[in-house]
Amino acid sequence: MPSVWIPLLIRLAAVAAGGLVAGALFGSVAGALTAAAILLLMLLSHTAHLARLQRWLKAPEQREIPDAWGAWGNVFVDLYRMLRREHKARARIEADLEVFSQAAEASPDGLVFLDNEDHIVWCNRVAEQQLGLRGERDVGLLVTNLIRLPRFAEFIANAREGESLQYRPPDRKGRVFSIEAIRFGRDRKLLVSFDVTQIEKAETVRRDFVANVSHELRTPLTVISGFIEHMVEDPAPDPAESKHQLVMMDEQARRMLHLVDDLLTLSRLEDETQLPREEEFDVRDLIFDISAEGRRLSGGRHSITCEVVPALLKGSREELRSAFSNLATNAVRYTPEGGRILLRWQMREGKGVFSVEDSGIGIPEEHIPRLTERFYRVDRGRSRESGGTGLGLSIVKHILLRHQASLEIASVPGVGSTFSAVFPTWRVTPPQG
Ligand code: ADP
Repeated sequence: MPSVWIPLLIRLAAVAAGGLVAGALFGSVAGALTAAAILLLMLLSHTAHLARLQRWLKAPEQREIPDAWGAWGNVFVDLYRMLRREHKARARIEADLEVFSQAAEASPDGLVFLDNEDHIVWCNRVAEQQLGLRGERDVGLLVTNLIRLPRFAEFIANAREGESLQYRPPDRKGRVFSIEAIRFGRDRKLLVSFDVTQIEKAETVRRDFVANVSHELRTPLTVISGFIEHMVEDPAPDPAESKHQLVMMDEQARRMLHLVDDLLTLSRLEDETQLPREEEFDVRDLIFDISAEGRRLSGGRHSITCEVVPALLKGSREELRSAFSNLATNAVRYTPEGGRILLRWQMREGKGVFSVEDSGIGIPEEHIPRLTERFYRVDRGRSRESGGTGLGLSIVKHILLRHQASLEIASVPGVGSTFSAVFPTWRVTPPQG
C-alpha cells in the first residue's frame, strides 16, 4: 500500500476517536462537531501545503523547496531528489555541449550549422572571418540572404556531395574560399569553408609558368622554322645568305638550350629533398674567378674591380659560384660601356655579405620586389638582346634560400644597382688574427 494511505487511515481513525471521546463526554452533537473541526483543520493544512507547492513550482530554481512533515514532507523530499537528478543531467549535457562547441570553434575550417529551412543556427569564428558572418547578429537569418553568390541558393538546396563553390569576398581582394554543403540529421546542413587562396595562387603561378616557357620557346622556334621554310623553297641560295641564316639559326638554338639549361637548374634547386653540399671554401678565390669571367664577358668595356676581406664560406661552391656569377654577369649586361663594377666581400655584424655594385641603368623602385619572379624582366627587349632568359635572379634566390641567405637589392635608375647576398654568421669563418 502506498505510504500516503496508512497515515491517512491513522488520521481518520484519530478523527473518529476524537469524535467518539467528545461524544461520550459531551453528547453526540459535540462529538460530531469535534470530528468535523479536526477534519477542517486537516483540510486547511493540506490546502496550505498545496499553496506552498504551487508557489514553489512557479520558480523552482529561485526558491528553497518547502519544508514539511508527514506525507507532504515525503512529496517535497521526492521532488527535491528529482530536481537534483535533473540538475546533474543538465550540467552533464551542458558540459558535453561546451566541449563540442569548443571543438567546432577550434576547427581551422569555417563551420556554419543550418536548420531545415537554411536559417543559421550557429557558426564558428573562422566562418565569421571567411564568410563575413556575425554569429550573434546572424543567427536565425536565412544564409542565402547573407552570402551573396550566384547559384548559392541552388547549391545549398541541392547540397550535393563533393560539390563546392568558390567565394571571393568583395571586401578582401585576392582571397578565395571554398564552400561545401553537407547534409546531416533530419534535413539539416553544415557549411564548411576553407581558405584556398594559396592553392589558387600556386595554380596561377603554374599556369603562367607554362605559358611563359611556351612563349619563350616559341619565338626562337618560329625564327628557325622560318629559315628552314626559306631554304626548302630556295634550295640553291646565295652562300653568303645561307651562312647568315645558319648563324641566326645557331643563335636561336643556343638561346633555347640556355633556357632549357636554366629551367633544369631551377627544377633541381626547387627539389627540397636534395640539400646543397656543405664544403668550406675560400671566398676570395671564388670572387677572383668570377671577376675574371666578368672581364671576359665585358671585353674591356667596363672597369671591374674586387674588394675582398679573406674568409671561408660554408656551402655548395658550385651553386654559390653560379649565383655570384649570375649577379656579376647581370651587372655587365645592364651597365653601359665605360661603367664601373665592384665585386665585394665584407663582414657586417658577423654576417658575410657578397655584393655586386654597378654604375648601370638601374631599376625603377616598383620593379624591385618582383625581380626574382620567374621570367620577370624590366625591359624584355634589352634582356633578350643580351641573351637573358629571365630566370637568372630566380635561380640566385633559390640558391641563397638553400643556404639560408637573403638577397638585398638597392637601385637608383640611371645611377646604378647593388645586389647583395647576406649569409648567416654560422656559414662564415671570418679572417683570423
Ligand atoms: P635576365 O635574364 O632578363 O637578365 P634576371 O632574372 O637575371 O633575368 O633579371 C631579371 C631582370 O632584372 C632583368 O631583366 C633586368 O631587367 C633586371 N636586372 C637584373 N640585374 C640588373 C642590374 N644589375 N641592373 C639593372 N637591371 C637589372
